[in-house]
Amino acid sequence: MSKDPVVSLGEAIKTGAPYVVTKKDTARPLGASKKGPRCNMCGYRLQPGDSMWFVWGTYRGGPGPNAVFCAKCHGPDDRTKWAEHAKRGREQYWWM
Ligand SMILES: [Zn+2]
Repeated sequence: MSKDPVVSLGEAIKTGAPYVVTKKDTARPLGASKKGPRCNMCGYRLQPGDSMWFVWGTYRGGPGPNAVFCAKCHGPDDRTKWAEHAKRGREQYWWM
């Protein structure tokens, strides 16, 4: 379970603070996933109480699609990691 302070989804998106997933979140579309948030790096399906981070992709001159990171993948270099991941993905997948 997360020890991160609970902030609103909007605040987490705006500030880059961790967002603590609720039970309600896991049943609704969030990020690229149609049912609950999933980590864009490792594919982990986030559970209630998990922390997640938003990484801007297309917005604010970012490198690719917007992304969600789980605690395992999150670090100080999320944007760099995502940029490299998106670049590799674009070379491989037409839909990115
Ligand atoms: Zn992950």
